[in-house]
Amino acid sequence: MKIKNTADGSTWFCCPSCGRKLFKVMQRTQCRDFPAWCRGCKREIIVNIDGKAIFAADAPCAPQAGAS
Ligand SMILES: [Zn+2]
Repeated sequence: MKIKNTADGSTWFCCPSCGRKLFKVMQRTQCRDFPAWCRGCKREIIVNIDGKAIFAADAPCAPQAGAS
C-alpha cells in the first residue's frame, strides 16, 4: 500500500507502480476489496483501506529529514 501526504495536509492513496495519486483517504475512510483504476498503468489495483490505521501510523510517506 502506498500513501502520500500532500502539502495541504490531505492524504492520498497512490498507485504502487507509478505513484499516481488515485484517491483521497480520510481518517474515517474504509474500503475493502475496492478496485481502484490507475489511468497511468491502465490497470486495476485492489485496495484495502482502513483510514484509522493509516493515520495512526507514523507518517508513512513523509519526506525524510535531511533528504535533498
Ligand atoms: Zn499506476
